[in-house]
Amino acid sequence: MGNILVTGGSGLVGKHLKDILPDAIYISSKDYNLIRIDEVRDMMNEYEPNIVIHLAARVGGIMDNMKYPVDYLEENILMNTNVLKVCHESEVERVISILSTCIYPDKVDKYPMIEEDLFNGPPTPSNFSYGFAKRCMAAHIDSYVKQYDKKWCYLIPCNLYGEYDKYEEHNSHFVSALIRKIYEANNEIELWGTGKPLRQFMYGGDLARIIKYMIDNEIVDNFNVAPKEVYSINEITNIVKKACEKDKLVVSYDSTKPDGQFRKDVDSSKLLSTLKDFNFTKLEEGAKKVYDKFSKRHNR
Ligand code: NAP
Repeated sequence: MGNILVTGGSGLVGKHLKDILPDAIYISSKDYNLIRIDEVRDMMNEYEPNIVIHLAARVGGIMDNMKYPVDYLEENILMNTNVLKVCHESEVERVISILSTCIYPDKVDKYPMIEEDLFNGPPTPSNFSYGFAKRCMAAHIDSYVKQYDKKWCYLIPCNLYGEYDKYEEHNSHFVSALIRKIYEANNEIELWGTGKPLRQFMYGGDLARIIKYMIDNEIVDNFNVAPKEVYSINEITNIVKKACEKDKLVVSYDSTKPDGQFRKDVDSSKLLSTLKDFNFTKLEEGAKKVYDKFSKRHNR
């Protein structure tokens, strides 16, 4: 299989990957700052990987994205450009990189979106900078494939949740933040927006399993990655409440706060025709697992 290096190894996806691929090298920003090309070169010289899983990114919630658009654009462009450029210099055979369904166009004529829709319109305004930075990485990888015939590719996952998520308000993701709110609530919780936007959510461990499958089976292609279920935020809230055995909790919505993109659901048929036996973790099951782990950690 060779020497595998994982950037973003201390993040949600990186930790899930470490659970099932413990022998890879996991890098965090404390080890190497990928914004600096000299540090990326030092990292590659140190480990000489032949496979790079590039997970590192500046990732955050809607308010953080809206407040720091320059940082989201520059940090992601620099990290991605440096990693790909140095992977080329170091003759890394395989690169698997991660985009996100939130970089898809704000609106298209037909849902769910397929991989070819990626450039068919601008990303949603609240995600504009992150969206274009990630789209640049897609174009960058496609260009390396065209010009140098590389075995490099990317996955486009939907929103994630998992026990390794950050739980701080400003940068956690909806389901993980919701689990924390449910855990801490007495009788009531308040959520942002109207509860109407539609979302797909995936357990972080599922993405890790797909990455491992692609390495093990030498699959080189670009895929959407999302369970087929598309729920409104309100439906997700009810499923998660039930999974946490807090059905009676009252939920109110603060509609003065932003909803974000109304929908961005994607079609994963291309992926599932390649990984024929793959089953996504049901939201009920994943939410229960995360809630149980969160409660155990905080009860100590
Ligand atoms: P995460 O938990 O926020 O972790 C981000 C990782 O990137 C951390 O390991 C962080 O290191 C590293 N990093 C950030 N800036 C860096 C820098 N300048 N130099 C080196 N490392 C740096 O992210 P995640 O949720 O695991 O996401 C992994 C990938 O999936 C990302 O590319 C993200 O865009 C994509 N994705 C995520 C979601 C989601 O809902 N989470 C959805 C779709 C796509 P430190 O820990 O040292 O800061």
